[in-house]
Amino acid sequence: MKLLRYVVLVSSLSPCLFAQTKESADLTIAGGTVVTMDGARTILNDGAVVVKGDTIIAVGPRTELEPRYQPKTSIDARGKLVLPGFINGHTHVPMTLFRGLHDDVMLDEWLRRYIFPAEAKNVNEEFVRWGTHLAAAEQIRSGITTFADMYYFEDAIAEETKAAGMRGILGETFIDFPAPDNKNEGEMLGYTEKFLRKWQNDPLIHAAPAPHSIYTCSQKTLQDAAALARRYHAPILIHVAEMKKEWDDSEKKNGMSPVQYLDKIGVLGPDVIAAHCIYVDEKDRSTLAQRQTGCVHNPSSNMMLASGVAPVPEMRAAGVAVGLGTDGPAGSNNDLDIMEEIDLAAKLAKITKMDPRALNAKAVVEMATIDGAEAVHMEREIGSLEKGKKADVIIISLDEPNAVPMYDIYAQLAYALKASDVQTVVIGGRVVMRDRKLLTLNEEQAMARAREYKKTIAASLGIP
Ligand SMILES: [Zn+2]
Repeated sequence: MKLLRYVVLVSSLSPCLFAQTKESADLTIAGGTVVTMDGARTILNDGAVVVKGDTIIAVGPRTELEPRYQPKTSIDARGKLVLPGFINGHTHVPMTLFRGLHDDVMLDEWLRRYIFPAEAKNVNEEFVRWGTHLAAAEQIRSGITTFADMYYFEDAIAEETKAAGMRGILGETFIDFPAPDNKNEGEMLGYTEKFLRKWQNDPLIHAAPAPHSIYTCSQKTLQDAAALARRYHAPILIHVAEMKKEWDDSEKKNGMSPVQYLDKIGVLGPDVIAAHCIYVDEKDRSTLAQRQTGCVHNPSSNMMLASGVAPVPEMRAAGVAVGLGTDGPAGSNNDLDIMEEIDLAAKLAKITKMDPRALNAKAVVEMATIDGAEAVHMEREIGSLEKGKKADVIIISLDEPNAVPMYDIYAQLAYALKASDVQTVVIGGRVVMRDRKLLTLNEEQAMARAREYKKTIAASLGIP
């Protein structure tokens, strides 16, 4: 009798016990072609990505993972590509509100006649908030999940970035003239230290100092900003060797290249994110590799400003981590479309070398993902779909005329697919765009405010 009761009990419980052996998860993205960008560059046809909290807990064939996990929600990715989120390694997001203010002029004239006066008259905390809001919408729409920014009032940018659910490496600018937020180096140091303290250990926001460049910052400013960053284990964002004049002036003034100068004064290191790196010779490239400094290539910007061409294949060959950035989005690009940069990076290298093999499709997809993560020193957290990494995942539709047929996934990503094919975006396990609908932002309101800003900015400069 006793034994019989026991058997009945077990058999009535057994379906429940079986169900409990499934590990709980928050989200699975199942059925797509998963382009992991892991060390082996594994591609899984009919794969799955399993997420718990803000972290990926499993990546593998769908048929193996589905019986093992019980997710709260699941996204069907059949017939689509699943990738790690793209990384925009260099931009100035509030400048969305200056988009198209004045183009097709020399950098000097653009800065002196338009941007510096426009910034002096218009940039305040509210301005950067709306500019960031608009930029976040645009970036999410092109599959960007992490961006590195350099601007003013960066703490307000951080608040808006976090509200949008995006990951940001956000650099408060140090520059040797009164900025819209801080009027001297003392104020810049004070503001930035508070900023660094406030965001310590935040899961999405990485606060940083951003000494603008060697041509706008004294040696003391550069060293002070770097020392502050290192006290807080923060990265250092800086423009490096972005124009010929910077190289020539550095040779004249310091007797060495911009890269060698930054190395000599102790700024270069494994925590530096160097935007542009156009004028870097063989010695510079080996120094950048030795110091493990990350470099960010911005092909649209370099072409639009006719700055020159960064030696990307040579940098990669020297072992430098090279990511991709949009720069801009005013004057030096005018949009925040990272898929355009993926395409242009390959084509710019090809035409410069007069060799279509110079930089291939796979290489430029690497630059927007895993190499980009290394360039911003976050390769342990982002850049690939692997167990233990942050759940920054994008789903790209293959249901448009430009997306079919597909023979080679990397070639399709680099040369055929568009930002508008990005369908769903997940950052840190949170769905921020589902089927092209933004879930964390009021896009209509941001666009309406941008149109309003145009009127006041134009009026402040006396232009129609
Ligand atoms: Zn820049």
